[in-house]
Amino acid sequence: MASTDGVKIHPAVDHGIKQGNSSFAGGTLTCKCATNPVKVRVGAQTAHNHVCGCTKCWKPDGAIFSMVAVVSRDAIQVLENGDKLRVVNKDAPIQRYACTGCGVHMYGRIENKDHPFYGLDFVHTELSDEPGWSAPEFAAFVSSVIESGVDPSRMDGIRARLRELGLEPYDALSPPLMDAIATHLAKRSGALAA
Ligand SMILES: [Zn+2]
Ligand SMILES: [Zn+2]
Repeated sequence: MASTDGVKIHPAVDHGIKQGNSSFAGGTLTCKCATNPVKVRVGAQTAHNHVCGCTKCWKPDGAIFSMVAVVSRDAIQVLENGDKLRVVNKDAPIQRYACTGCGVHMYGRIENKDHPFYGLDFVHTELSDEPGWSAPEFAAFVSSVIESGVDPSRMDGIRARLRELGLEPYDALSPPLMDAIATHLAKRSGALAA
């Protein structure tokens, strides 16, 4: 069994997972700018919160995983300093709106109506200091941390630490989300009845 001593995943989970509150109804995300921060209201509880090892999600300094959840796009409202937001990559499936001052991604949006997750925005609830956001449930795209420069020899320890935290590691998304994507594609192709 690999040692999990000193393995850091993300500051929001390294000291244990904070459980969500089912009656929590949203909060305000604030970027890291000391002056004129961007503020985004998320008017609902999030779902499918997870830590993500991909190279595209925003991560806090020093973290090898991001933590990201989804919420209905209707729940997102830019409250302040929205003029600082720019899309990181307009050609990416998820258009990540980042603050040009501090680099934090405030929300990610899918504009392609055929995308399996159209209608859901991606948010980092650690940008809010309100307690009660849905807790992370699994770890996605774990092998991808190697693409950010993590030595492959560390992977056993990282996967063991994720399991210790109750965040089952997957090298894509979790099975329910992969099934949702496959179902969407099968209905579109006609392999399953729509
Ligand atoms: Zn900022
Ligand atoms: Zn990611």
